[in-house]
Order: sequence, then C-alpha cells, then structure tokens
Amino acid sequence: MKRFPLRIGLTGGIGSGKSTVGKILVSCGAALIDADQIAREVTAPQGAAIPLIRTHFGDDYIDAHGAMDRERMRAAAFSDPGARARLEAIIHPLVTEHSERLTRRATESGHPALIFDIPLLVESGRWTRQLDAVIVVDCPPETQVERVMARNHLPREIIEQIMASQASRSVRRGAADMVIFNADCTLGELHTQVQQAAQRFGL
Ligand code: ATP
Repeated sequence: MKRFPLRIGLTGGIGSGKSTVGKILVSCGAALIDADQIAREVTAPQGAAIPLIRTHFGDDYIDAHGAMDRERMRAAAFSDPGARARLEAIIHPLVTEHSERLTRRATESGHPALIFDIPLLVESGRWTRQLDAVIVVDCPPETQVERVMARNHLPREIIEQIMASQASRSVRRGAADMVIFNADCTLGELHTQVQQAAQRFGL
C-alpha cells in the first residue's frame, strides 16, 4: 500500500457494472470520483465547458437550455476525429481540474481510499501513473448487451458498436490488479464480493 488515501481506478466495459460496484465501494467508506459525471456537469447549463464549446464549435452545439447538445456533438465526434480531439481538449483539462478539487476534499475528510471511476482507463492510458491499483469489472459481452438493452433501450447494433470501440475484454483484464467478475450473480452476491475486495484495500 503506497499512499494514503489509496488511489484506485475502477473500470470496465459499458454495462459491466462499474457504477454499481462504485456505489458499493462508497458504502464501504471510499470516496468516489466519477469522470463521466464530472464531464456531464461541465457540459450542463452554466458548466465551465459551455463558453469554450460555443467558441470552438458554435452556438449550434448548445441547446435551448444552455447545455451542450449531446446528440449533435456525439454525431460530430463520431464522424470527425478532429472534432472529437477538439472536444476532448476542452473537456479533459476541466475534468482533471474538478477531479483534483474533489480529491483534495476527500483526502482532507479522511477517506482511506479514493475510487476513480474511469470508463476508458485502459484505452486512454494517461491515468496509470496516478493510481495505486486498478479494479476491472468484468462480465461476458452478451451480459453487457442484455444489461444495456434493458437499461437504455438501445438497439443491439449500437451497443455492439460502442463495445467494439472500447478495449477488448482480455486487454482490460490484463491491466487489472483485481478483477470483479459480475455475471451470474445477484446484486446481493455482488455486494458481498465487493465488500471482500474492499477489505483488501483497507476499507
Ligand atoms: P456504463 O458503462 O454504461 O455506465 P456500468 O458499467 O456503470 O455501465 P452499471 O450502470 O453499474 O454499469 O450496470 C448496468 C445495469 O446492470 C444497471 O441497470 C445495473 O443495475 C445492472 N446490474 C449490474 N450488475 C448487476 C447484477 N449483478 N445483477 C443484476 N443487475 C445488475
């Protein structure tokens, strides 16, 4: 155990159960820093990214409420790698800044571990040096598809496209210090498994 608080990255493919595992870790005493949630906050009305998006993409990318127009931006980022890079150059520094602020606050309040929920941890590679351990939530691809179809009512092809753009299951597992296998188990059983894992991290 290198640092106090311990910094743990939490990752997994879409629908693997990262958020669910993150919540259980919080119930064990960890503080959760959720990059996706921060990204949503900075692109919400009055978010820090809005003026930059207006400047670099134009008013068309801001919706009637003053938030980033997610659908339009998703389409632009999907079809144009340059647009995607421009968006990331706006969002990433803001997410980093906000995460650092939350990290300082959680450290000051004495949490023994900080959990960084980073969906693309393996793909982006830029987090590795900042973390003491990586937890990967793993399940078979078919389970991911079923969960996301049930939760988001997305068609199978779209979910499979997203999965294909993410790291493969084996690459992700290769980056793990600990794998939480989340399939063929109830939420109660997952809870027990995560509590046992948490103990290994001093929670
Ligand atoms: P995303 O990457 O899309 O944000 P995620 O990896 O954070 O997804 P969750 O949101 O935690 O995944 O889980 C996806 C869905 O599957 C949720 O509706 C969750 O309640 C359900 N789920 C997760 N694990 C289990 C389980 N063991 N049993 C039943 N349902 C589960």
